[in-house]
Amino acid sequence: MAGEKKDLDWSNLDFSYHKTDYSFVANWKDGAWDEGALTSDHNISLSECAGIFHYCQEVFEGLKAYTTEDGSIVCFRPDLNAERMADSATRLEMPAFPKERFIDAVKQVVAANAAWVPPFGSGATLYVRPFMIGSGEVIGVAPAPEYHFRILVTPVGPYFKGGLKPITLCIAKYDRAAPHGTGNIKAGLNYAMSLKPTMDAHRGGFAENLYLDSQSRTYVEETGGANVLFVKADGTLVVPQSHTDSILPSITRRSLVQVAEDLGMTIEQRPVTWDEVKSGAFVECGLCGTAAVISPVGTIVEDENTKVEFPQGLTEIGPAMKKLRETLTGIQDGALEDKHGWVFKIQ
Ligand SMILES: *Cc1c(COP(=O)(O)O)cnc(C)c1O
Repeated sequence: MAGEKKDLDWSNLDFSYHKTDYSFVANWKDGAWDEGALTSDHNISLSECAGIFHYCQEVFEGLKAYTTEDGSIVCFRPDLNAERMADSATRLEMPAFPKERFIDAVKQVVAANAAWVPPFGSGATLYVRPFMIGSGEVIGVAPAPEYHFRILVTPVGPYFKGGLKPITLCIAKYDRAAPHGTGNIKAGLNYAMSLKPTMDAHRGGFAENLYLDSQSRTYVEETGGANVLFVKADGTLVVPQSHTDSILPSITRRSLVQVAEDLGMTIEQRPVTWDEVKSGAFVECGLCGTAAVISPVGTIVEDENTKVEFPQGLTEIGPAMKKLRETLTGIQDGALEDKHGWVFKIQ
């Protein structure tokens, strides 16, 4: 079975939704989750009064399943996705889907769709999207009385088709996250309000927005969907932190910090001001997240008169970002030793 792959042009897939064979679903009612099951029904039928439609109770996760060189189907640190989704749910008064069950559900749905997991070397992956919505009816402002948990999977193409070309960011004119708000959880509501800034950035010719902290507009936070990393001239990795807990705890970032430590790099995890970036303190910059692992950033533009270039990563990915990226992808692909037990075998 595992060998019989779907007939897709794996290397030319883009990042769009392709229906697969199965999704996983579970429902929460009267204080408990049901057994959950795989389904081949890719539609959800809901009351017009379901909580999701009115008060936006939705949280999600994103991870990828892929084939390693020895033909195993694996995913990367699903336990951290389970924990983060539980934290996100708790913040929106939604019931957490238990961690062990989350991991088991990922395993079930990926195994059932093994034919959709792209082959090793194609650069493509099976994107795994767990999410939860308030499905019960609610008209007064309150948490929904019922919830629907679902995992859909869809094959997606390599993030970088034309090689790792450094991107240009702009400093966002809008804010992403309120101090002590919901910036540290993975919820659709954080994306709804980021769509306009993102499209404005694209219309301006930029790849993404870099958001500053909304309290003081002094500190660098992250982009709409990726954490940011810097490297100093002496090779120190600098990882921005937030005074106001408004940066999403990226699993890729946390893994890269461990990789940097294993490589013997010096690491500073601390708030970083935009002034420090403008002062030329950093020679490389990158964005990190599941999809691309690291996207090199060559330039950040604030306005017509203010732009920062990262001299060691301006035309191609710089040496430190390259080393970090190659090491983490090497661990993911099974080419390097997985000494922290991050790669989770599905079959
Ligand atoms: C998902 C996400 C990231 C990246 O997290 P990973 O776990 O590394 O994929 C970063 N920032 C935001 C706002 C996100 O939603």
